[in-house]
Amino acid sequence: MKVGVIGLGLIGGSLALDLRALGHWVWGISRRERTCHTALDRGIIDAYYQLGESLPQDTDVVIICTPIEQIIPSLSLLVKYLSTQTIVTDVGSVKAPIVEAGQQLWHRFIGSHPMAGNTNSGIESVQKGLFTDRPCAVVPHPVGQINDQISALWRSVGMEVYYCDSTEHDRAVAWISHLPVIVSASLNLACNRESSARVKILGEKLASSGFADTSRVGGGNPQLGRMMAQLNRVALLSALDHYQEVLSSLRQTIEDEAWEQLEDRLKQAQEVRQTYIKSGMIAPK
Ligand code: NAP
Repeated sequence: MKVGVIGLGLIGGSLALDLRALGHWVWGISRRERTCHTALDRGIIDAYYQLGESLPQDTDVVIICTPIEQIIPSLSLLVKYLSTQTIVTDVGSVKAPIVEAGQQLWHRFIGSHPMAGNTNSGIESVQKGLFTDRPCAVVPHPVGQINDQISALWRSVGMEVYYCDSTEHDRAVAWISHLPVIVSASLNLACNRESSARVKILGEKLASSGFADTSRVGGGNPQLGRMMAQLNRVALLSALDHYQEVLSSLRQTIEDEAWEQLEDRLKQAQEVRQTYIKSGMIAPK
């Protein structure tokens, strides 16, 4: 296949690398020319172009891997240069607004969300095999052949594909991805409220794996967190309302010294976590 990748950062660069290793001819576009040079030098892409200039006419699939707020603007610059058969997908972590706008701009646009990555970014963080054994959500397109082709592409880099409605996708990621960012950020901010400088410094010295696990996602890229909240505002607010209720009820058991009740709730929490572990996508620790 001939594949185009727009946005040669962690996700786009890693995907280009894996697709090229599978024998596809991969062209790239990125914001900075320096990034395109690096990608070419390191064998991540075969050629590069610029947005707003003509592109290889027989491209089978274009994957937009820019920061989320640039996905639709990039697609609108791209459409003029696409051949009618080209399928376009994206990797954005919110789906409803992107799929809606994307399908208005291009009749063969299909939304994807590969659940792979880490806190690194940019071409320097490109990683071979980043997608292996990870799930990928795909919002089905009315044309079956488009679904088949995009699912085959994600499976070819080792992903398990889950078809889902865009609104359901956004509700699910609000729980498992966007709520954890806000909860973890609140934890970091709350810890900073300690009034004694000595106690605060002691906490910093004593912090161990529990704090490392729970503070990590709240210490990630602030722009990404902001865009997730902006684009998935309704689902995130609903998840936060539930979270606040649960937190208040746990707080109440402590205030009431209702230790049996607290232990029961913590047992339930342990069981819930087990269901995620059993599904195979998060590692037991
Ligand atoms: P990233 O490492 O920052 O890569 C994005 C790259 O896009 C940048 O390195 C930048 O490259 C390039 N870029 C920026 N604006 C552009 C534009 N207007 N046109 C073309 N290229 C542009 O970010 P990422 O983590 O790969 O995330 C990319 C997308 O993947 C986002 O939409 C995100 O929602 C989605 N996603 C991320 C993860 C994750 O864990 N990181 C997981 C799933 C999905 P230069 O400036 O160097 O040219």
